[in-house]
Amino acid sequence: MEPVIEVKDLKTYFRSPQGVGKAVDGVSFKIQRGSTFALVGESGCGKSVTALSLIQLVPEPQGFIAGGQVLLKGRNIVDLPEREKRKIRGTEISMIFQEPMTSLNPVFTIGNQIVEAVKLHQGKTRQEARAIAIDMLEQVGLPRPEELYYEYPHRLSGGMRQRVMIAIALSCRPDLLIADEPTTALDVTIQDQILKLMKELRDTMGTSILLITHNLAVVYQNAEEVAVMYGGKIMEQASTKKLFRNPMHPYTIQLLRSIPGIEKRGMTLETISGIVPPATEYPAGCPFAGRCPREMEGCAGIRPPLAEREPGHLVACHLYDADFMSKPHSKPLKREAEEAEPLATPPGERPVVLEVKGLKCYYPIRKGLLKKAVGHVKAVDGIDITIRKGSTLALVGESGCGKTTAGKGIIQLLRPTAGSVVFHGTDITGLTDRELKKYRSEMQIVFQDPFSSLNPRMMVGQIIEEGLKSLKPRMTRAERIRKIEETLERVGLTPEMRHRYPHEFSGGQRQRIGIARVLAVDPEFIVCDEPTSALDVSVQAQILNLLKYIQRDFGISLLFITHDISVVEYIADEVAVMLDGKILEHETAEAIFAHPKDPYTKTLLKAVPRIEQAAS
Ligand code: SF4
Repeated sequence: MEPVIEVKDLKTYFRSPQGVGKAVDGVSFKIQRGSTFALVGESGCGKSVTALSLIQLVPEPQGFIAGGQVLLKGRNIVDLPEREKRKIRGTEISMIFQEPMTSLNPVFTIGNQIVEAVKLHQGKTRQEARAIAIDMLEQVGLPRPEELYYEYPHRLSGGMRQRVMIAIALSCRPDLLIADEPTTALDVTIQDQILKLMKELRDTMGTSILLITHNLAVVYQNAEEVAVMYGGKIMEQASTKKLFRNPMHPYTIQLLRSIPGIEKRGMTLETISGIVPPATEYPAGCPFAGRCPREMEGCAGIRPPLAEREPGHLVACHLYDADFMSKPHSKPLKREAEEAEPLATPPGERPVVLEVKGLKCYYPIRKGLLKKAVGHVKAVDGIDITIRKGSTLALVGESGCGKTTAGKGIIQLLRPTAGSVVFHGTDITGLTDRELKKYRSEMQIVFQDPFSSLNPRMMVGQIIEEGLKSLKPRMTRAERIRKIEETLERVGLTPEMRHRYPHEFSGGQRQRIGIARVLAVDPEFIVCDEPTSALDVSVQAQILNLLKYIQRDFGISLLFITHDISVVEYIADEVAVMLDGKILEHETAEAIFAHPKDPYTKTLLKAVPRIEQAAS
């Protein structure tokens, strides 16, 4: 059977002041009708550029297709005139992106946006297009499609907006749907619904799907075939079953090992050393050289071909090449593998550091000319929490359940409406700002987005010093500098890095800076608000290890706010599940995962995609 799409030796390059970056460098694969093919790998490995090349949307003039073919039902679309390419987009190939809000036009109604797509690509009348639009809204499981037709995007939740994007993408029944991280911004239950919906629509319409994601569990549960990308190349490719049963490439193995989960509790997570290099700096040989724990002397200089090492299992690694391995350049380099090591188990019963009782954070709803309060949004509605010394309480729940507001309310970044927060015997809710200053250094917060929480105009040293000046005013300048350098080392950076700006660092390093800023003032209690959700799994593993180390070494208590259950399984001692501003269940991690009681907790846990046969 002819594949829907066949990519042959695709090369997409980008010009930059640093030289030409080979973002996609000789990629080949096929997708059969009605099947899902997944591309996985860390950010910056070439997945999204591959997708843009398929739909012929590489940003010009910096980006260009330097070679290869994209055969859509046998026809090479790379060299077609722009007019022809435009016809293909939307009718034969559609794409859905990670963030539906930025892809939907805020000034047009939902109905209008689908109708325009249908009219443009299928030449239907407005009346016919309207009927198709309503039918599609119904097919993607949206309630009251006739009413929704007239709604604007901002009135819809994230999950609903993603369904609308799918409705638009599928309204012309394309041969290929490219889904680029379609569920990354969504909660786990919504993610589950969207992925099921995509599968259903694929099976009924026969659409093929190219699924791009960094979530290996999502791939495991949704794709028939998978290719692991690194450095603009495919490193390993096989059926999903084969690849997860027997991952062969060191990169795939390391990616799988860095996923947190319940079985890794009490251990450090294995990490991949270093970061993904920019496309202009890929080595001449194996792109993974420099980070690979099994690197040999010849790897950086000799490129391993992607070859069939087992029936239907392609791997680009010299380890499986008998000829390479028989030569002297197969001598292993002495690189320390960053292996998992046991972490000291915390003592059983620990003293309470912080006790929250009946905490409420309400926001007034104001209406009318005089902006009179007509009601309240009960973001946090009477929660009780106890946090013990040196332990981690995970606060889990879906977006909008009140987790972040609760975290801010506890450390008084937001003044609560009611309730008490007793920290070391003092109820801090009644303190004035001046009185509160004494406690500010002891209670800190690490934010989700390491980039926007660091001032881009300040050097790293200045960023950390700012907090010290304000919260430790008695420190001399020399003491502050010493403290900054010590803290940078503590989080795995170097003292000299204090002279650099945030943009000079990778995402993981920026999160380390965010943690260093907090640690410098010697806190006892840290609220970590989704500190790893913007990071790749390998970088996430480094940050989780770091948090575990500082907790072990300094006895710091953590309130870990997240919607990622596998992170909770790994890091939490206790878990509190939140919904609509209330805590439904608060238990030890072991109890909650073994015997969840609340139906909502059960739904949440059931929706988490899992890999059943991960690499050992
Ligand atoms: Fe590691 Fe060498 Fe294999 Fe590349 S070729 S993945 S560096 S062992």
